[in-house]
This record gives sequence, structure tokens and C-alpha cells, in this order.
Amino acid sequence: MGVGTNIALMKPILLISKITCPECGFQKEETIPEYSCQFFYKCENCHKILKPKEGDCCVFCSYGSEKCPPKQKNATANKM
Ligand SMILES: [Zn+2]
Repeated sequence: MGVGTNIALMKPILLISKITCPECGFQKEETIPEYSCQFFYKCENCHKILKPKEGDCCVFCSYGSEKCPPKQKNATANKM
């Protein structure tokens, strides 16, 4: 039962996310803009424009290996 405060678990915010195209499976590392969410992303391989899934704020949340900075902060805060 959680009584502890997990101050030691501050995770650094990652600003590189590997985006996986849902259409062709192509993967590319992209820099996440720290202060704005990226809504559109064009796949270099099949040139399909990716948009966030419902409930996600940006393409990194939907298709990236790392979510956008605000989400990463929330995830850290909500963990325990
Ligand atoms: Zn693609």
C-alpha cells in the first residue's frame, strides 16, 4: 500500500521518439518539439499523413516510442 513518496524516481524527459508508421511499419527517430504538440506527421516511406489516434494529443503519443513531454511528466507523476 503506497505510503512512500517516490522522490528518487524522477525520470528525465526524452525528446527523441521513434515513430512507427501504422501503414507500412517504417520506423524513424524524430525529435519531439518540447513546447508544442505535433499533430501531423508524414511517413517518409509511404508518404501517408499520420494523425493522432482518438484521445491522443499528438503523433508521438499514438505512434512514437516516447510520448510527448507533457504526457511523460504526467506518467511520472501518476505512477505511484
Ligand atoms: Zn509509412
